[in-house]
Amino acid sequence: MKKHNFSAGPCILPHSVLKQASDAVLNFNNDNLSLIEISHRSKPFVAVMEKARALVLELLSLENKGYSVLFLQGGASLEFLMIPYNLLKINGKADYLDTGTWSSKAIKEVKNLGNVTVIATSRDKDFTYIPKDYTINPDSDYFHCTSNNTIRGTQMKSFPKTNIPLVCDMSSDIFSRELDFSQFDIIYAGAQKNMGPAGTTLVIIKDEILGKTGRSIPSMLDYQVHIDKDSMFNTPAVFAVYVSMLTLQWLKDLGGIKAIEKINTAKAILLYSEIDSNPLFEGTVVKEDRSHMNVTFRLTGESKKEKFEQLLQENGINGLSGHRSVGGYRASMYNALPLESVQVLVNIMKQL
Ligand SMILES: *Cc1c(COP(=O)(O)O)cnc(C)c1O
Repeated sequence: MKKHNFSAGPCILPHSVLKQASDAVLNFNNDNLSLIEISHRSKPFVAVMEKARALVLELLSLENKGYSVLFLQGGASLEFLMIPYNLLKINGKADYLDTGTWSSKAIKEVKNLGNVTVIATSRDKDFTYIPKDYTINPDSDYFHCTSNNTIRGTQMKSFPKTNIPLVCDMSSDIFSRELDFSQFDIIYAGAQKNMGPAGTTLVIIKDEILGKTGRSIPSMLDYQVHIDKDSMFNTPAVFAVYVSMLTLQWLKDLGGIKAIEKINTAKAILLYSEIDSNPLFEGTVVKEDRSHMNVTFRLTGESKKEKFEQLLQENGINGLSGHRSVGGYRASMYNALPLESVQVLVNIMKQL
């Protein structure tokens, strides 16, 4: 049966990318060697890494603007610690916006190194909205926010103007919508939500913000060390980087972020309209902050639960359960999810 994959992460990738990746595992570049059994210093792999880094800058319109691109390991979760290591001055402080589980985890890690101010939080309403009235301290070392809250289903539609470095965790909505990416000083994202398989983390850094902390940074945690070695300080996650490169090329061929945003918007309108017009369902976050990537909703009553879940199964809908900490349903509609899959889900909701 054809599956419709709404998994939150790891999650759907374009079928053509999976096909190319499978071929490369057996025979990369027609060399009769596997992509994962050749040196990361070999010419063909160095070309993969260079292409992946270049595609990131091209897709985000950040070429020649003083940014470096890294493919690191340790997940977005290790960036929660690397960010303060690289930006927090000794005795300095950082401002954080607390919009859900991932921001809260990021905040916790800063406390290992220094002072953090939570300048606004939506914890009072169970993270169902994005706080908007707050003031960033002009003398903080940086401001950190999470563009899309994967678990709760909220998304920042705009970002504050500030003179201090702006750092953003874009794990679950990078490459999904047009933004002025040059407003950010660091963008990071675990690959497994919108770019590739688990195993690598994309980090985009404005070079000029580094080297100002006065702190001694362990090599593996030092962005400058990785930048100086073209993201090859140690063995990179070769397979994850290769598949990410293929996905970025797929996105470019499709027309880039502008083109995918149109499709993502159509998917979001289709599903949210059904949630709002069908009395059996309700959305779980405030409308103006609704995510176009992770749509969270629930049944208004329990009586149709069994039937709904049976229909989901019969129609090949995968990964629709809400996060274990929240419950309900979550439809993750990353770039590779076709509109057709959302239509199948909506048809089930109408039938119920
Ligand atoms: C999934 C996710 C993370 C954690 O990513 P790992 O790669 O598992 O460490 C961090 N932030 C956001 C917004 C996420 O969606």
